[in-house]
Amino acid sequence: MPDFSAFDLVIVGSGFFGATIAERCATELGLKVCVIERRSHIGGNAWSEIDPATGIEVHSYGSHLFHTSSEAVWTYVNRFSGFSNYRHRVVVRHRDRFYTMPMNLGTLSTLFGRFLSPTEAKALIAEEVAASGITNPINLEEKAISLVGRTMYEAFIKGYTAKQWQTDPRELPANIITRLPVRLTFNDFYFADDYEGLPLLGYFEIFNRMLRHDGITVLLQTDYFALRDELPQSVPIVFTGPIDRFFEYRAGVLGWRTLDFQREVVQVGDFQGASIVNYPDLDVDFTRIHEFRHLHPERPYQQERTIIFREFSRFAGRDDDPYYPIDRPADKDGYDAYRTMAEAEPNVIFGGRLGTYRYLDMHQAIGAALKLFEQQLVPHFRDGRPLKLPV
Ligand code: FAD
Ligand code: UDP
Repeated sequence: MPDFSAFDLVIVGSGFFGATIAERCATELGLKVCVIERRSHIGGNAWSEIDPATGIEVHSYGSHLFHTSSEAVWTYVNRFSGFSNYRHRVVVRHRDRFYTMPMNLGTLSTLFGRFLSPTEAKALIAEEVAASGITNPINLEEKAISLVGRTMYEAFIKGYTAKQWQTDPRELPANIITRLPVRLTFNDFYFADDYEGLPLLGYFEIFNRMLRHDGITVLLQTDYFALRDELPQSVPIVFTGPIDRFFEYRAGVLGWRTLDFQREVVQVGDFQGASIVNYPDLDVDFTRIHEFRHLHPERPYQQERTIIFREFSRFAGRDDDPYYPIDRPADKDGYDAYRTMAEAEPNVIFGGRLGTYRYLDMHQAIGAALKLFEQQLVPHFRDGRPLKLPV
């Protein structure tokens, strides 16, 4: 183990949040940074690798689509790799028929079996919303029905959400569903951000380049909790692991969903003709199938085989990788208690998805890290201002 007192900063976790802080502090402030990572690789959930059987880049924790409307974040990630002009679309297979997501006029017209103009679609949804009696939607089910009507909810959201969350949709927060746009046009692009694309060099190379710096030491397969007592109190910590684990679950275990991916190499050049096909029906037990070759049509991948991941969702136990915060009312209370504890923790800053118990997209994790760097780490290391929680 290195001598930790030789570092200016210790970062727990090498996902986009931790890697951005490490890169900025080493490059801009010339600090000596130690990154502690529990897994055998850097990059957190955005890590990717080349599948040896097919030569195709797979996203180890499920497809990661990069999109942002922040020019600062886009400029920052483009330092480490150019990006393709890939634009994401999602196909849905419902009762063996084809639809597209996010819900748009095409989805509606196909489901109702007739061409619907924007005005007709709006009227149809309004009629269904009025019949449901929902006026002030506060949970996922009410929000979804208020946005797309009951017929669409039953076809595309109810079953998928039951498989994905195994939680009563009336207990889930509305913001889960507002992540998906609803469009009364035939535009079926999944995202509507100013910038979108995939790293031409691969996600793995972005992380290699972010952390390849003389000022950065990365310790893989190293659990922070196994060595926390060895760390000198004087060295500040940016902690991007689970906040409830940090405080030994004193305010309870926060609810997370985890995912299992079943990998299969299929002996066909193209399995499903799209990078993601969603399965909202309950008679299929997975939620979606990823076929990674379609993320990079610009690459000359071989045509004999392809690799797919079937995605299954379940509650996360303590030994599982936490992926999605469930954020039920009890979780919100628990997180508030941990936040209060975090505020009283003098030399530790909590960040990232696990450290703030928030579903963050990659661009949000990078954006939050850049903000923390500018607003707190620069003033702290340049002018000696005390560290405090991100605002
Ligand atoms: P993470 O990437 O989770 O990194 C945290 C790191 O901390 C991990 O490497 C972990 O091993 C490490 N760690 C935890 N505890 C310890 C410990 N005790 N000691 C040492 N290390 C520890 N975002 C998008 O923008 N587009 C997408 O399409 C998209 N798809 C996603 C699909 C899935 C299935 C999931 C789960 C997420 C997806 N995301 C997507 C979100 C994206 O993965 C996150 O925004 C990003 O990973 C957040 O980075 P982070 O650094 O906060 O956390
Ligand atoms: N969702 C759904 N049907 C779909 C896709 C998504 O009901 O075909 C709901 C589901 O509750 C999901 C949420 O919308 O958790 C957000 O979807 P998104 O695609 O953002 O999920 P992620 O890619 O983050 O897993």
